[in-house]
Amino acid sequence: MAEKRDYYEVLGVDKNATPDEMKKAYRKLALKYHPDRNPGDKEAEEKFKEAAEAYDVLSNPDKKARYDQFGHAGMSGAGGFGGAGMSMDDIFTHFGDIFSDMFGGGGFGGFGGFGGGGRRVARGSNLRITVKLTLEEIANGVEKKIKVRKSVPCETCHGSGAADKNARKTCETCHGSGRVAQVTQTILGRMQQVVTCPTCHGEGEIVTKPCPACHGEGTTKAEEVITIRIPAGVEDGMQLSMQGKGNAAPRGGIPGDLLILIEELPHDLFQRDHTNLHYTHYVNFVDAAMGASVEVPTLNGKARLKLEAGTPSGKLLRLRGKGLPDLQGRMPKGDLIVSIQVWVPKSLNKEEKEMLQKLKDMPDMQPSPDRRDPGFFERMKEYFS
Ligand SMILES: [Zn+2]
Ligand SMILES: [Zn+2]
Repeated sequence: MAEKRDYYEVLGVDKNATPDEMKKAYRKLALKYHPDRNPGDKEAEEKFKEAAEAYDVLSNPDKKARYDQFGHAGMSGAGGFGGAGMSMDDIFTHFGDIFSDMFGGGGFGGFGGFGGGGRRVARGSNLRITVKLTLEEIANGVEKKIKVRKSVPCETCHGSGAADKNARKTCETCHGSGRVAQVTQTILGRMQQVVTCPTCHGEGEIVTKPCPACHGEGTTKAEEVITIRIPAGVEDGMQLSMQGKGNAAPRGGIPGDLLILIEELPHDLFQRDHTNLHYTHYVNFVDAAMGASVEVPTLNGKARLKLEAGTPSGKLLRLRGKGLPDLQGRMPKGDLIVSIQVWVPKSLNKEEKEMLQKLKDMPDMQPSPDRRDPGFFERMKEYFS
């Protein structure tokens, strides 16, 4: 296998390029080397794949960080491409979003199945929905029933677009192949190119008498309830895809995919950091000074924590396994990290003031910080262990 080119070089961007700049650079290359524009051109196909691979890595902050640190060596076995390259179908599934707006919202030019030559099969466009999830739903995985309005095969003609079974015939322009040769005059001379048949749009057949219900389209709009199984551990901004659950294709082609964008709803108590959760728990000064057993909420219930006597404000305590599961299941469940904050009263009554005044002059109440700050290192050690 040939030596891999640097991903930044492939996309023609520098290391500080913004996600938007990288996306633009990738779109430009994908458009240039798109198989629909370069039928049968192996070199273009390789360039197309190379760009997709580079973009897959550089557009993912985790993979990018690994690549920046270790180069191509950091990529093997890391999921995604893993050096083995990816199929064209993978690329379209993976970057559906980019391609769909590139080709005017009609999926990937409306047709899939390139490369093999011959008749092309119409492809329905992808359908996009956003699913909002609570942290509780993300922690356990969830099944959602979602009503979508989409193109479905016409019931009258069963998706054929024809009024009856004799109302379709082989296209005379391309004799059923779906493609025609086209000669163009270029500065390099006459060039022959095989293009999609303009009469049948690549389908190889035409409808002579259109179905009255769908006017020959083969599809109608309908509402459908789709059941979506969302695995535990998904993150905000992730996109899941369900193959074939998008819009039906005209006249019996392959339906598009349903693309599900995950949106995570903010939680009242917890902040998320990948698989870990953060929670701030307030205790009064007495419990912090004398030690106590405190109850803290978790995503699925409650847990007890023991505070040592002399717990400083800012102490981090870890509840192992009380975080979120890893989406791929490769890592153990995350932790719930509890930050203990000592509550300082905002107002005091006369009696409280007198008691505190008395306490203030006691010998153990005098600050005696250790300048090496062992508490700090202890907290950090705990956090990273
Ligand atoms: Zn119909
Ligand atoms: Zn034709």
